[in-house]
Amino acid sequence: QPLIHASKVNKVFPNGCHALKDVSLEVLRGQVVVIIGPSGSGKSTFLRTLNQLEPITSGQIVLDQVDLTDKHTDINIVRKEVGMVFQSFNLFPHKTALGNVMLAPMKVLKQSKAEAQKTAESLLQRVGLADRMDNYPSRLSGGQQQRVAIARSLAMKPKALLFDEPTSALDPEMVGEVLDVMKGLAHGGMTMVVVTHEMGFAREVADRVVFMEDGELVLEETPERFFHSD
Ligand code: ADP
Ligand code: ADP
Repeated sequence: QPLIHASKVNKVFPNGCHALKDVSLEVLRGQVVVIIGPSGSGKSTFLRTLNQLEPITSGQIVLDQVDLTDKHTDINIVRKEVGMVFQSFNLFPHKTALGNVMLAPMKVLKQSKAEAQKTAESLLQRVGLADRMDNYPSRLSGGQQQRVAIARSLAMKPKALLFDEPTSALDPEMVGEVLDVMKGLAHGGMTMVVVTHEMGFAREVADRVVFMEDGELVLEETPERFFHSD
């Protein structure tokens, strides 16, 4: 049973743009799938359909045997179970790193302050920010902010994490620290779908690489075969 099962997903935007054409993908529990492809090929749109940030025109998306595309499915539960990390970190500027990570567990999971703080502290430690918990985002580098954003997603105890070009907005010297955190998650068994241009990451971490072109998923391979190194 795949954790994520997208079948024949189509997305037609109101302006007529047919951004996804019969895209199907299965992601097993604990797998890391990397999506690559040229700009405008539909990578981001597809990722966003997987937690229903983007409603689809036709097709089906099933997460852990729950049909997300069924109108009776509570979309707020879906958003809890599938975390998303964006190119821009979107942290609350008036909250510290710790405050940012505590917020959703308190509001959404109804955790006590003490419980949320304990979780947040251990997650910030896990992303290497034990000594930065009390810093406001403006005092953190881009790489540190993105690691806070990852900790914030993890605080919801998601079944899967989606990453949309998580290192594209970073200065080159900070890319490695974010990829290292993602590698750690992958090795820890997190199910991940990652849109990225970081081919080294894809090669090293991905169980499968899928290539999108003009709204279609045109190729799906293991990294060994995809990069067909001699
Ligand atoms: P970019 O968006 O950075 O210009 P692309 O997204 O077009 O690059 O391609 C990403 C990577 O996938 C590149 O390393 C490219 O060589 C490789 N690639 C492109 N097309 C294919 C294909 N059909 N089969 C295998 N690899 C491909
Ligand atoms: P990628 O992530 O591969 O760069 P996108 O998923 O962002 O590609 O975009 C896929 C296609 O959908 C593009 O042609 C883009 O112009 C179009 N598109 C994306 N969002 C919208 C929207 N809100 N309205 C209309 N067209 C859109």
